[in-house]
Amino acid sequence: MVDQCAKKITTSILFITGLLALLISSACNDTDRLVKAGWNKPTHISPIYVMTSDLNERSLQVVKDGVIKAQEYLGNYGPLKVFIIGTDVEAANVVAKEFCEWTYEGKGRIEECFYEDQGIEIRELAKYKSGSAYAETDGRQLSIPTRAVTIGNPPYDDPNDIGGYKVAIHEYTHIYQHAHISDEDDGIPNWLEEGSAELLAMFLAGKYEDYLNDSVKLSRELRENHPGLTIKDLENERSSEKLQKDCQECYWRLQSETGSLATVLLINQTSMDYFFKEYIPSIFYLGKEKAFENSFGFTIDEFYVTFEEFLNLTESEQLEILKPKS
Ligand SMILES: [Zn+2]
Repeated sequence: MVDQCAKKITTSILFITGLLALLISSACNDTDRLVKAGWNKPTHISPIYVMTSDLNERSLQVVKDGVIKAQEYLGNYGPLKVFIIGTDVEAANVVAKEFCEWTYEGKGRIEECFYEDQGIEIRELAKYKSGSAYAETDGRQLSIPTRAVTIGNPPYDDPNDIGGYKVAIHEYTHIYQHAHISDEDDGIPNWLEEGSAELLAMFLAGKYEDYLNDSVKLSRELRENHPGLTIKDLENERSSEKLQKDCQECYWRLQSETGSLATVLLINQTSMDYFFKEYIPSIFYLGKEKAFENSFGFTIDEFYVTFEEFLNLTESEQLEILKPKS
């Protein structure tokens, strides 16, 4: 009996140790695997554009222009397919199939994507004539990792609208951010991911100043209507989900406009180039917390305190602080 029990315990310990070793080595191997696959480095492979048959050349051009603009600044990360969806559900279905085959491997997983996951999202973009867009990095699991951007119905209604162009830059910025994340559980805080993508998109689209002024107004309005709401709430899954449920618009504003203002404070400590080309790539090797501290000299929690003080200033004081340093 004793022997048997001892053997059982030894076996369990061996099993747990083995499991831990496996977990640790698979985490290490994944970073190594991604490095070997060139995940966090620019490539010479050009993006491929896939568009539903009901859209015209103008939709393709506006998205291409946005992706090229973003690549000129951030570099060319790929292999990337950009899926552009119109309003014809049948046509969207054809593109959805190509999306799933590009992002996953194995019949089961591809079918799951097509019938239960992003396939539905893509068909819904067409069904609801939606202008939503997504950056997709599930393809990082493939032996040759892939990335994808999906954009619904560019360039939107107004002939002078920068919508489709700006959205393409925004989504490509997410592709770039995710190229520099080796561990998806240790990525960029949500407000920084969205805030910096929108900020760069507006900057490259030539709308930086207008966007900053609007962001100050909208963030102040949000603060007045929802006192106590902070970007830190976006880091906590429970408070983040609650906010999404209670006030979807507050959730978007907090991560876009308020998140952008927080990003500007970090950029003004350093520079736009430093933020995107030094800080973001360092996340791959250092992880979220260390990369932040290393780049800006304080922890994310310390920054939340500074940012709270900023949000409580007057409008003119805020605008003065946000002015680019030159
Ligand atoms: Zn986004």
